[in-house]
Amino acid sequence: MEVTKGIHQFSGVSNSYIIFNNEIFLVDTGMPGKSGEIIDYIKNELKRDPQDIKTIVVTHHHFDHTGSLDKLKEITGAKVAIHSADADYIAGEKTQNGSLFMIPVVMFMKIIYRSRSVKADILLEDGDEIGDYRVIHTPGHTSGSICLYNPNNKVLFVGDNLMCSQNKIEGPRVLHEPELFKKSIEKLKNLNIDVILTGHGQAITSDANNKLETFLTELDN
Ligand SMILES: [Zn+2]
Ligand SMILES: [Zn+2]
Repeated sequence: MEVTKGIHQFSGVSNSYIIFNNEIFLVDTGMPGKSGEIIDYIKNELKRDPQDIKTIVVTHHHFDHTGSLDKLKEITGAKVAIHSADADYIAGEKTQNGSLFMIPVVMFMKIIYRSRSVKADILLEDGDEIGDYRVIHTPGHTSGSICLYNPNNKVLFVGDNLMCSQNKIEGPRVLHEPELFKKSIEKLKNLNIDVILTGHGQAITSDANNKLETFLTELDN
């Protein structure tokens, strides 16, 4: 569904997005098995060729955001962009020291879906631009977590850096680098934001700046 003008959201375990303006790109790919739904939507709803997608940006390496990355890259031929600090994880060269429970679950799903590792084509750094969007490096949830901000439509993609619960902003449940998180979120403070699109749950479509300010104040306490 179109969540805000020109941006289409797919929900599930996590959210994926298609940005459909002058250029088309994907932000995150969801769990394994999500590619069919996304491709069908591009063909049937947007009436475009999947190969019109030139870039797939992933907000961080976690499996719930990159599970369908290999299939979508294969079908679309798009370039994969991820922050340099998270690239080795999707390439299968590093494994996150996550919860002991998640590691076997991810391994199991990779086998069932025959997921393959993906070598990134574009290594993102803070300040880089993807279309109209600026990359903001926001480590904390993972080392290479990013946000994407477009000053024209005032849309901010936050991946798992922020979530919305009961109309309030919350931080992620998992912080691999907790000491960096607050400084990362402070980078978002001076942006003029209308819509925050999150990696899980609902978008924040009203009063985004105030809600962010409140969250930052709570982080101080
Ligand atoms: Zn995550
Ligand atoms: Zn997630």
